[in-house]
Amino acid sequence: MYDMIIVGGGAAGLSAGMYALSKQLSFVLIYEDLGGKATWGQQLEPHDDEEYRAGSETVRHFVQQLTALPNSTMHDYVTHMERVGAGFHVTTREHGVLQSVTVVCNRSHTVYPGCAGR
Ligand SMILES: Cc1cc2nc3c(=O)[nH]c(=O)nc-3n(C[C@H](O)[C@H](O)[C@H](O)COP(=O)(O)OP(=O)(O)OC[C@H]3O[C@@H](n4cnc5c(N)ncnc54)[C@H](O)[C@@H]3O)c2cc1C
Repeated sequence: MYDMIIVGGGAAGLSAGMYALSKQLSFVLIYEDLGGKATWGQQLEPHDDEEYRAGSETVRHFVQQLTALPNSTMHDYVTHMERVGAGFHVTTREHGVLQSVTVVCNRSHTVYPGCAGR
C-alpha cells in the first residue's frame, strides 16, 4: 500500500513526485511517456535546435531526481481506478492492481477511467 500513486509523468506528475519525495512519502509515479509534453519540441525547422525551453530543463531535472530513486517510477498504463474503503485501487496493464491512500491524476487530454478530475 502506497501513501500516494501519481498517474502521469509529465510536468504535473513529476512535480507531484518531487513533492512526495520532499515529504518522504511512499509513492510510485506511473507513466507512459516520462517527461510528457514539456519535452516535445515545436518541430518548426530550422529553429527547433536553437529553442530555449526552461520548462523542459526543469522536467529533465525532475526525471533525473525521481528515476534515481529505486521503484519510484513505473512504466505502465493505468486502465482503471476506483475508491475502495479508505483508499484506492489503481489497475495497470503490466503490474496489476496497486493500492494507495491517495491518487494524484495528472492528465492534459487523457481521460482516466474512474478519475473524476485533475
Ligand atoms: C510544442 C509545445 C510548446 C509548449 N509551450 C508551452 C509554453 O511555452 N508555456 C506553457 O505554459 N506551456 C506550454 N506547453 C504546454 C505544456 O507543455 C503542457 O501544458 C504541460 O507539459 C502538460 O503537462 P502535464 O503533466 O499536465 O501533461 P502531459 O505532459 O501531457 O503528461 C501526461 C502524462 O500522463 C501519462 N499518461 C496519460 N495517460 C496515462 C495512462 N492511462 N496511464 C499512465 N500514464 C498515462 C503520459 O504518458 C504523460 O506522462 C507547450 C506544449 C507543447 C507541445
